[in-house]
Amino acid sequence: MHIESFGDIMNKAVSIIETDCNPNELKENLSFEIRPITINDDVDFLRQRSKEVEFNDKSYLDDIKVLGKYCSTHEVFAMAAVQLGIPKRIIYLRNTSLTKIDDPNWNEARVLINPVIKEQIGLTKYWEACASCLNNMGLVARPYKIKLEYYDIFGKKRKATFTNFEATVLSHEYDHLNGILHMDIALELLQMPKEERVEFRLTHGYEILHKTGDYEHYLKEECK
Ligand SMILES: [Zn+2]
Repeated sequence: MHIESFGDIMNKAVSIIETDCNPNELKENLSFEIRPITINDDVDFLRQRSKEVEFNDKSYLDDIKVLGKYCSTHEVFAMAAVQLGIPKRIIYLRNTSLTKIDDPNWNEARVLINPVIKEQIGLTKYWEACASCLNNMGLVARPYKIKLEYYDIFGKKRKATFTNFEATVLSHEYDHLNGILHMDIALELLQMPKEERVEFRLTHGYEILHKTGDYEHYLKEECK
C-alpha cells in the first residue's frame, strides 16, 4: 500500500476546518447522531450518482469530519459520503485489512476525493455486506488490483494502487459513488443478520481467483 501521509489526516482536516469555519456552527452540526441511510429509508437517494467535490467550496471538510466521526465509532470497513446523506464523491477507508476486523480502534483514516479508476486487474470474490443494505449479504466479484487517481483532502492529485482485500473495499465504495449497491451486482444474494455473517465467513472467506489479467473479461465469464 502506498498512500502518503494519511496518519494525521483527520487532525489536519480539523485544523483546516477550525481556521475556515465557525467552530460552534460545526459542533452543532455534529452533535446529532450520524446514521447511514438504508435501502428502507430512501433507496433512490442511495442510487443517485454523487457529485464531484469542488475544492473552492470548503464544506467538503465538514463532510469528511462527518465521515470520520461515523467511521471512528462504528466497525465498518469504509463509507461513501452518500451513505451519510452527502452525495459527493468522497470515500473514507477505515479498515481495508481482513486481519484488523476485530480491532475496534483500528482506523486508517484514508480519504479519497473524486476518485477515478484507471485499471482493474484480476478477480476475487467475497460475501459482502453494507451498512446501507440491512441484512442483504451478496457474493460479489471484484478486481484483485485497482489503479486509481484521486485527490487528497488538500486538493492535491494523487495516484494509488490497491491490491488484495483493500481493492474489494475500494471497489464497493466506488460503486456507491455511482449509485450501485453490492446487492445489485451480487452473483448470489442471502439474507443474513450480522451475527450469522461472522460465522458464515469462517467457511466462506475472501477468495482470489486471478491476480493478473483483465477484470472485465473475467467478470463477463462469471456472469455467463
Ligand atoms: Zn456499502
